[in-house]
Amino acid sequence: MCGIIGYLGKKQAYPIVLNILKRLEYRGYDSAGIALWQNNQLIIHKEAGAIEVLEKSLLKKDTNGNIGFAHTRWATHGPATKDNAHPHHSQSKKINLVHNGTVLNYYHLKEELKQKNYQFYGDTDSEVLVNLIESKQKEKNINLKEAVIETTKLIEGRSAFLVHDQNNFNTFIAVNCGGDLFIGKNKEEEMKMGS
Ligand code: GLU
Repeated sequence: MCGIIGYLGKKQAYPIVLNILKRLEYRGYDSAGIALWQNNQLIIHKEAGAIEVLEKSLLKKDTNGNIGFAHTRWATHGPATKDNAHPHHSQSKKINLVHNGTVLNYYHLKEELKQKNYQFYGDTDSEVLVNLIESKQKEKNINLKEAVIETTKLIEGRSAFLVHDQNNFNTFIAVNCGGDLFIGKNKEEEMKMGS
């Protein structure tokens, strides 16, 4: 499965997450994406293909920012397209997620969300996951962390994922449900990585 990395600190996030994505890229990934917090909004870039395709597309773009997270995808649900590349956003676009693993019962959960008027732009189980988090948060009027915990009780299969909420932009929630997750932290910076 994929590699995920999130960085939050005083340094420029882009070179750090790009470098780590490359280190995680050893199994023939099919697409890559990165999110950077810039000027009070989350800017997302995604490309089908190798990390170098994403890197090239960003050569002339603004990659400044001290908060970033990124993903290399090895598709399990849906083809290797730009739409299916991570990060994935929730219906409100406020919550974003990068996901490693599989949600085995995603079809059933997706149908339930569709009945609640959630719409989907891609085919991944990961997009179901991020909308499930948003739906729990709204329905139960709970904070993001509580909504993530509620969601982990509903999903089947092995997953590790990182969640970012634009309403609380300088925090990541990282979750390990049977995947691999590493967290590095010092006084000034924090890094979360899954593979
Ligand atoms: N199941 C997710 C997808 O198909 C994540 C796959 C992965 O771990 O790369 O997008």
